[in-house]
Amino acid sequence: MSIKLLPSQLINQIAAGEVIEKPASIIKELVENSIDADAKKITIKFNDGGKSFIQVIDDGCGMSKDDLKLSFQRHATSKIAESEDLINIKSLGFRGEALPSIASVSQIVARSATEGSEGSEIIIHGGVVKSEAPSSILTGTFIQVKNLFFNTPARRKFLKKTETEKRNIYQVVKHFMLAYPQIAFSLLEGDRKIYKLEAGDLHHRITQMYGRRFSSSILPVSLSKDRFSVNGYIGSLNLVKKRQGEQYLFLNGRSIQNRLLNSSIYSSYKSLLNRGEYPFFVLSIDMPPDMVDVNVHPAKSEVRFQDEWRVFYVVKSAAAQALSDLLKAIPDFQPYNRYSGTYADTHLTKQISLPTEPVNPASAETAPHKRVDQFDNLDKHTASPINENTIERAHKRIESIMKNQLVDENIPIDNVWQLQNKYIITEVNNGLIIIDQHVAHERILFESAKKALDGNGLPSQTVLFPQTVKFQPEEYVKFIDIVPYLNKIGFRMRDFGENTVIIEGIPSEIYSGTVEEILHDILDKYIDRLEINASFLDHMAATYACKSAIKAGERLKNDEMINLVDKLFATEHPYYCPHGRPIIISLSMDELDRRFERI
Ligand code: ADP
Ligand code: MG
Repeated sequence: MSIKLLPSQLINQIAAGEVIEKPASIIKELVENSIDADAKKITIKFNDGGKSFIQVIDDGCGMSKDDLKLSFQRHATSKIAESEDLINIKSLGFRGEALPSIASVSQIVARSATEGSEGSEIIIHGGVVKSEAPSSILTGTFIQVKNLFFNTPARRKFLKKTETEKRNIYQVVKHFMLAYPQIAFSLLEGDRKIYKLEAGDLHHRITQMYGRRFSSSILPVSLSKDRFSVNGYIGSLNLVKKRQGEQYLFLNGRSIQNRLLNSSIYSSYKSLLNRGEYPFFVLSIDMPPDMVDVNVHPAKSEVRFQDEWRVFYVVKSAAAQALSDLLKAIPDFQPYNRYSGTYADTHLTKQISLPTEPVNPASAETAPHKRVDQFDNLDKHTASPINENTIERAHKRIESIMKNQLVDENIPIDNVWQLQNKYIITEVNNGLIIIDQHVAHERILFESAKKALDGNGLPSQTVLFPQTVKFQPEEYVKFIDIVPYLNKIGFRMRDFGENTVIIEGIPSEIYSGTVEEILHDILDKYIDRLEINASFLDHMAATYACKSAIKAGERLKNDEMINLVDKLFATEHPYYCPHGRPIIISLSMDELDRRFERI
């Protein structure tokens, strides 16, 4: 076998294997080039998950006719010239590999013009120049990439489903949008506008991307130490999620992945976060380029720090400083008072109230014989909100209630009192019971929502001031799936463009202020499982119930209390709320007599 130098075309294709694993990586390379070219506005368009069409247009410095041609040659770069430059990299690109690699496995049209000179166009198919011509393009660069891997069918087979590639693109583009708020970005899928963001500061950018809910729930982070600085925003507890994906870390303007850094930020929340809960953050670390090696891998998302532990320390201190007010304000905060996700974790709930068959016809059809077991869905990493003792106590309590038949459901209730605007006390045939008004109402709403999901739905009440709720594009595609179920419990809404819905009607028992929170909570649960089954529908009903129930601290009128107690005993399970807390505590005459030492 004789050794030969590979033809450059083949070298480029091999290199393409490293740089371009998916359409999103092409977008990443092209946008990096636009940023390096000092663009103020970048427009990204794709079709078909980027597999058949990608286009990036910028208003950066552009290239002359000769440079445009040269830029598609291997190791042609304007960004470094000698090896010393390698330890002082300020630009995002520097290897001069991206354009030739992309060109070797696709069909490219590139146009560019520098300030004050005529533009030019080059067409390249599979690395071969097809044509060159003048172009009337304004200052800046236009790159269109069609039919990725058209000449390497084996690699084309490895492209993922359009949905998956699309999600990857959203992820990549979101990173740039958050790292460069001073650049205006547009993202289009075909003609559909996914994002249109004007230039501004980071707070404005986050608000534009995530909606108003975020703007009041992010805390500024700013710390400089030695030669490092850490800047950005970190989310308060309102923005904590049960899944990862909204943690953004940048190093000198480059998105990086670093598990250790992430966990050092999580740890700054101390006990406020449970395992399996993830806060929102967008943090930029800046340090002199010579203190970090970004040349570890062509995709450059891994970096090597010279002084790793010091970086962790500074980042953690910066986050802790931002959170310190929050930590001071709620010294004994119980994170699991928040509802989300705690439902399936209670053994008791399953025993006394959860159906084990799919309750909605759609899922029953697709899986007619499948039993949906709550325990299968248990997230092993989620700390149980209710400990064994509570459950045991609850069991004992329910047994004693059942045994003593304390509550005769046929006896009309007329004597009711409210204690501290929180508990309702009423007399029953064999003593008295104390009812937690919030959980009682929650149980009532939960069961009515469940019935609505099974049957004809709940009435909806039209809102006076329709409110919009914003989603991330990758969330929005999922959100569409659950809209029919939301309609059933009384939410009416319409698409409002740019991954936003406008809420026109809400369940009649709900406060409109909590709508956004409810929708996001329900969606998160769905994204977690991506299956509409009994557990999901229960969660949906429970979230609705929890968020719209009477709160502790609300004063109730006499007839409201009687109504509540009546309705409670008309439910299937008046004794325990959907997440297993007791609703009723009883004091029997026996017990009273015993404690007063009468017997
Ligand atoms: P690198 O970015 O690593 O230098 P690329 O292959 O991505 O390598 O690009 C090669 C060269 O083409 C860059 O160094 C730059 O001079 C030029 N270039 C690429 N894209 C643009 C653009 N959008 N605007 C201006 N110049 C560009
Ligand atoms: Mg580049």
